[in-house]
Amino acid sequence: MSISAEVKQELVALRTEKNCCILSELNAMTQCCGAMTLHGRGQVSITYTTENVSVAKRIFILLKRGLEINSTPHFLKVNRFGGRRICRIQLSVADTRKLMYALHMLHESDGGDVFRGIPRRALTRKCCQQAFLRGMFLGSGSVSAPEHTHHLEFVCGSGSKAAAVLNLIERNDLNGSMYQRRGNYVVYLKKGAQISTLLGIMGATRAMMRYENILAQRSLHESVMRATNCDHNNTVRQLSAAQKQIGAIELIKEKGAFDRLPDELKQIAELRLANPELPLEGIGALLSPPIGKSGVNHRFRRIMQLFQQLNGDTQGEDQNGKNPDHSA
Ligand SMILES: [Zn+2]
Repeated sequence: MSISAEVKQELVALRTEKNCCILSELNAMTQCCGAMTLHGRGQVSITYTTENVSVAKRIFILLKRGLEINSTPHFLKVNRFGGRRICRIQLSVADTRKLMYALHMLHESDGGDVFRGIPRRALTRKCCQQAFLRGMFLGSGSVSAPEHTHHLEFVCGSGSKAAAVLNLIERNDLNGSMYQRRGNYVVYLKKGAQISTLLGIMGATRAMMRYENILAQRSLHESVMRATNCDHNNTVRQLSAAQKQIGAIELIKEKGAFDRLPDELKQIAELRLANPELPLEGIGALLSPPIGKSGVNHRFRRIMQLFQQLNGDTQGEDQNGKNPDHSA
């Protein structure tokens, strides 16, 4: 099961006790899954459509518990959804009216005008804000597996819905962003820790724990990889410096210049040839008396200087067609 499906499964099973939160969640679901049909003479009906059976079940339960509205989910195959099965809940005009009054989408004082935006009353209390985010996620959200990427998004049908979601996210001290995609407004979060916090805020605590576990494993894995790469790079650096030294010493020997070297350089050159992978400190420790890294470094620099002088001569000879490049 995908992590999105897992989060939704946990959210639809949550028992919401307070009526204010039931209405707030219903409000969000009406915003993302509901469509209004006007029948003339001020008559309106709402139809919910979702591909997710659990989400349909949730709408059914919230309607029943919050407003004692009995509804009937219908399953049908629709070509527009790629031949997939979708679920519809169609409310009668009377039930729609009841729902819209409860959600403050309809006021007697306004002469029966329908308010299609998000009523502010749904978003004043903290508990209701969380319920609203839960409803929006159930109807329009998804989250990527943290093993692959950190991404949680809400796909909103209008800029005002997206702005409401973004506002709620920011009121919870999280950083959301928004962009337009194929006529929709997508609100998204990109930080693993913040996604996990939002899962918790919406009430998906089990999914949140799992998400955090994966984040912790991933960060451990990344720090191990960083340390390993670092070791590897040091080894490569050491090896390539040592290889240059070996190449230089071999050229010096070939040129018959080795015997002219002072004893302290000869000694260190022989140690390098015998220990191609030893770091400078290690070479210094083998000398008697032992010397430090900078002392060893200084002696190799003198060897490299001699090599460069000799190599300059070699390059001169190259022009006469002699063997090129001892420097590798
Ligand atoms: Zn509430």
